Amino acid sequence: ITGEFKKALPVLKTIQSAGFEAYFVGGSVRDAVLNKAVNDVDIATSAFPQEIKKLFKKTVDVGIEHGTVMVLMEDESYEVTTFRTESTYQDFRRPDSVTFVRSLKEDLKRRDLTINAFAMDDTGEIKDFFGGEQDLNNKVIRAVGKAEERFHEDALRMMRAVRFAAQLGFHLEADTFYAIVVNAHLLKNIAVERIRIEFVKMAMGKHLMEGMTGFIESNLYKYCPGLIHANKELEKVAKVKEPIENERHVWALLLYYLGIQEEKEAHAFLKRWKLSNQLIKESTDLHQLFLHRLLFEHTNETVYQYKKERALEAEILLNQVGKTGNNKSVERIDDELPIHSRDDLAINGKIILQETERSGGKWLGIAISAAEKAVVKGKLANETSEILIYLKENNYMP
Ligand code: ATP
Ligand code: MG
Repeated sequence: ITGEFKKALPVLKTIQSAGFEAYFVGGSVRDAVLNKAVNDVDIATSAFPQEIKKLFKKTVDVGIEHGTVMVLMEDESYEVTTFRTESTYQDFRRPDSVTFVRSLKEDLKRRDLTINAFAMDDTGEIKDFFGGEQDLNNKVIRAVGKAEERFHEDALRMMRAVRFAAQLGFHLEADTFYAIVVNAHLLKNIAVERIRIEFVKMAMGKHLMEGMTGFIESNLYKYCPGLIHANKELEKVAKVKEPIENERHVWALLLYYLGIQEEKEAHAFLKRWKLSNQLIKESTDLHQLFLHRLLFEHTNETVYQYKKERALEAEILLNQVGKTGNNKSVERIDDELPIHSRDDLAINGKIILQETERSGGKWLGIAISAAEKAVVKGKLANETSEILIYLKENNYMP
């Protein structure tokens, strides 16, 4: 027992000394066995939530109806979840009620994949009832129990299967794969928000090709927003050079390979995927800038408008699609930009109004934009007097 688990050991010990069972479970155990970095350590226990709350000074009810209590210890927090089964599945979705049980095996049985369904005790011993460790060693994605049944219970698990294939570079075991082929259409019952989380994690996977191949060949893609005829395009996405860095990049690249060019169309596509307006804006901006860069070099205007950070991201995308990004040019242009935002402009509405002794109106915004543009282009010095002369000479000031 080392690292994050060692830190969390007192939580396990406290629960055990009260006479209950407690284990590390889920992704953290899987990642530890794979020698990967472990982030959040999850704990499963035979104790009921109320019993857990009595044992620790600081707890938060994060999902008490599902059996989860957050335990705060030192500067860390741990999700402690009561062993449970999920009995009533409706419409192929996540269950709306859970039943607490006292057996670890029952709890592990309701989990999605064998590689996510083993536990580790306080001595570091693995409790594995479904061959998860072996599947981990053989790089296999396999549903716990009968795949078909498990996907009927919760169709999102099919997306999780291809997501983990993409993250880990594992292949889908035959029965599990065929169960996805047969049941892919059940994804229609799943909220887009949940599908999106798995889709993005898949797209950012280190082994995107493995995951994407499963996603395409199983027909899962047909039940995702706007992708019904996109198998060829998705194959191209799978070939990007380096792992995709963040969600914004995922959407910008997908829009590109889908052949979408109009910002309006891009916006509508991302709306269907239920992205926040902020993320839609960031993704479509990046997409537009990237399309621009396929044809033109950066200029003062592009770096000013989109800002250095976004401009550098467009260069990353160029490299990913097999073109040549030019970070140096972005850095150089940004260094030499006379201003980086409107706040840097040596003029503002107030100054112009004082100068003209007229009341504000549409003309004022137009005048400021004109000054901004000329300064950015380097045609006009960023000095109040010079800008005023420029605006007068060009009839921007009445
Ligand atoms: P990550 O590293 O991405 O967080 P994870 O395996 O921890 O991966 P989570 O979504 O955090 O994934 O879920 C934690 C655990 O809960 C999983 O390891 C799995 O055992 C179980 N689980 C999650 N989602 C489902 C599901 N839809 N059906 C069954 N079990 C699930
Ligand atoms: Mg997790």
